[in-house]
Amino acid sequence: MSVTPCTKQARVQDVGILTTALRSFERAAAGLGLPDHLYLKLLNPSEKIETSVTPILPDGRVLEIQTFITQHSSILGPAKGGIRMTADVTHDDITGLAMEMSWKTSLIGIPFGGGKAGIRCDAESLSSDEKEIVIRSFTRGSRRHIGPELYVPAPDLGTNERDMGHIWDCISYSSGTAITNGCYVTGKPPILGGVVGRREATGKGVVYTIVAACEQLGLDPGAIRCAVQGFGNVGAVAAAELAALGAKIVAVTDLRGGVFKDDGLDIPSLTAHVVSTGSVNDFVGAEVLDQDSIFGVACDCFVPAATGSQIDAERAATIRARIVAEGANAPTTPEGDEVLDDRGLFVVPDILCNAGGVFVSYLEYTKETQREQITLSGVETRLRKRMQSAFEEVCARAQTNRTAMRQAAMEIAVSRVAEGVLSRGLWP
Ligand code: NAD
Repeated sequence: MSVTPCTKQARVQDVGILTTALRSFERAAAGLGLPDHLYLKLLNPSEKIETSVTPILPDGRVLEIQTFITQHSSILGPAKGGIRMTADVTHDDITGLAMEMSWKTSLIGIPFGGGKAGIRCDAESLSSDEKEIVIRSFTRGSRRHIGPELYVPAPDLGTNERDMGHIWDCISYSSGTAITNGCYVTGKPPILGGVVGRREATGKGVVYTIVAACEQLGLDPGAIRCAVQGFGNVGAVAAAELAALGAKIVAVTDLRGGVFKDDGLDIPSLTAHVVSTGSVNDFVGAEVLDQDSIFGVACDCFVPAATGSQIDAERAATIRARIVAEGANAPTTPEGDEVLDDRGLFVVPDILCNAGGVFVSYLEYTKETQREQITLSGVETRLRKRMQSAFEEVCARAQTNRTAMRQAAMEIAVSRVAEGVLSRGLWP
């Protein structure tokens, strides 16, 4: 029998989000001097599940949809992470995102591991009835991989509260009970056991870290100019919160186009415009901005809040901001990151910047198992405190070790999961 020796070796291939996650892990592992057995334990996902479902739509069409779940780690608790529903999502993307979730939950200090799910289907092309059918098919096909002690999904790109409500219903219905026994999914509508403020939590958390970054750089958060890529759950809430502080949101793009206004866009009106038209395009009083130009907009803070691998080396060289606050997951490629670093931009890394959503998901998880009621102000106070303390911890390590914020955040996160492995023991 031949045995493959367990050694560290370059395993990175050019696969987008997964490449970014692996490179960032490898740098942290090197910085921490992780021994081989821990390196390999934390490198490899614990489980990868691929299924296909064939829902029938009301008009008789049959879809064939691939779905993916990766549990990267469950060392510190059940795998936690959102469901991405896009036409081009791959299992590699999901694996990279699941790995990032392991670091995010550990960094923000909640007892979860890292997971992620993907539904390879264009959510925007479906009516709400059709989407419900697809979500229920996914839930049925993946039912045995979802659970409070296994993998607990939440919304991500292309999915929302309503979809989480359908998942919850599908699971309680399948067991013939009124509710689920324990928390099977977070990000549900508050009427079904969700937490008030969960929908806004990621965007608000992004803004808490921007305020903290401004303090580091001696900027007044109420007087900064910002550009936001992506105007969905994360981007629109972050823009609204920044505008409420007095900041000027000068540029916003989405999948269909973009808008620019030098003296600041009226964000509540832009939000209403997007609700009624589906896009930021044609917003009265704003100039047209093509999607690529957002990277070159002169501002203090750039918030990528769309999708992965947006800031490559070329775009990183054109960013005219002092702060890059990563609302999206893995928005910066490893090459882009080097350029941002060389140029001395202050990057709030994704595992810190957008961790507010999963932190409030944890509040929902505990509420559901303990039936504890939480008020909106209670949620916001806990979210703000947790984001601030995580930011301070990362900043202190970055300053002490003279590293970038991303390296500091990753080292804290990876070392905690490694400590979890050692505390559980090495068997087998
Ligand atoms: P969403 O589907 O609500 O919104 C995405 C927005 O980005 C939309 O406005 C879309 O038009 C836009 N977009 C997509 N591709 C674009 C492109 N190439 N250029 C410009 N705009 C583009 O998704 P969301 O929940 O806001 O998630 C956004 C990002 O934040 C994702 O990377 C997601 O993984 C990450 N994230 C989300 C949460 C959460 O709680 N929703 C938590 C953590 C991280």
